[in-house]
Amino acid sequence: MFLPQEIIRKKRDGAALSAEEIQFFVRGITDNSVSEGQIAALAMAVYFNDMSMDERVAFTLAMRDSGQVMEWRSLDLPGPVVDKHSTGGVGDVVSLMLGPMVAACGGFVPMISGRGLGHTGGTLDKFDSIPGYNTVPEPARFRQVVKEIGVAIIGQTAQLAPSDKRFYAIRDVTATVESVAMITGSILSKKLAAGLDALVMDVKAGSGAFMPTFEKSVELAQSIVTVGNGAGTRTSALLTDMNESLGPVAGNALEVRLALDYLSGKRRPARLHEVTMALCAEMLVIAGLCADEASARAKLQAALDSGAAAERFNRMVAALGGPADLMDKPDAYLDGAPVVVPVPAPQAGFAASTDCRGLGLAVVALGGGRTRPTDPIDFAVGLTDLVELGTELQAGQPLAMVHARTPQAAERAVRAVQEAYVIGAAKPAANPMVYRSIRP
Ligand code: URA
Repeated sequence: MFLPQEIIRKKRDGAALSAEEIQFFVRGITDNSVSEGQIAALAMAVYFNDMSMDERVAFTLAMRDSGQVMEWRSLDLPGPVVDKHSTGGVGDVVSLMLGPMVAACGGFVPMISGRGLGHTGGTLDKFDSIPGYNTVPEPARFRQVVKEIGVAIIGQTAQLAPSDKRFYAIRDVTATVESVAMITGSILSKKLAAGLDALVMDVKAGSGAFMPTFEKSVELAQSIVTVGNGAGTRTSALLTDMNESLGPVAGNALEVRLALDYLSGKRRPARLHEVTMALCAEMLVIAGLCADEASARAKLQAALDSGAAAERFNRMVAALGGPADLMDKPDAYLDGAPVVVPVPAPQAGFAASTDCRGLGLAVVALGGGRTRPTDPIDFAVGLTDLVELGTELQAGQPLAMVHARTPQAAERAVRAVQEAYVIGAAKPAANPMVYRSIRP
């Protein structure tokens, strides 16, 4: 028998909690027998005194087991169950291509995605911009689509890691989100509840990243890899660049258009392509579908070239209620913004750096993201043709195109994009796209 206040006291005094104590406390979060004040106090104690890797594993498993945990064994799938998760970025449309690409290479991808958070876009919001696509199917339907097509991308349900929902809401209002131990448990509990054999984590680093410094991004990636493997799921992480928008497009329906073009081969922007291929290859290797990165990349390229990945995407969209001919006729289904204007570069020079967070916030201000969880989203708005860092510009040449609902909103976004770019006299050194791979 434990007492919540004794567990809080122990952590306050810097001692390590046992797995049983952590399980007791997390059960109390789920069934409301632990009060909001007690949860806040424990969160603050963890914030200051941290958790060992063993504590983090116990915390992750307890939160995972606080709700439904999916199982796939009974379906006898002819391949591994594998997924990717990212800490969130701007212009990061990777999931839309990655799921179908990995499915076309023999993986099974039950991707449970989230909404946009702060300045970052959410995969769920992107799918919600496709008319008819059901992001909340019945669990049986979700399983069937994963089994038959190899990929289904849907939204989170209340049954998944409910303790994290309550815990995160309290952390959010008590200045205790920024703890690598608690972020690790929060992210992994939700992902591992999907019953994965393997997980690849994309941890972003840079001015548009969730983690405030490069070192903190490394720390989170290492923590997730250690704890994921400790919790019994093969886990690795790539540290990828978020000092500029990943793709040249940010905004929900606009990013869906880019994903369609990518899969059909119309355009594959180099940075987006490289990060997508690196993450997909890591998934194929860690899931045991390919022996090494080179063979994984060859297999993925073949899935793109043959149209197999595009076909998986089309079948997934149709199976979940969306239009079967979305890829052929995007204009017939995806909303477009009425006002499209260029952002003139204020001076000549090289695109030297961006405040990537500022670009994300410009999309939110256009209506493409939320400032409150209940806000509606305008799927049509956003930015396209964002120039890459290192591009040489003449004064007045476009830094991007703004897609807005009104001329006033467009005007504000033009200013925000101009402020987000720093234009310098010298061409900057290119940032790597993948800084580091972190494996168990
Ligand atoms: N995303 C999550 O899901 N949880 C955190 O704690 C932080 C980011």
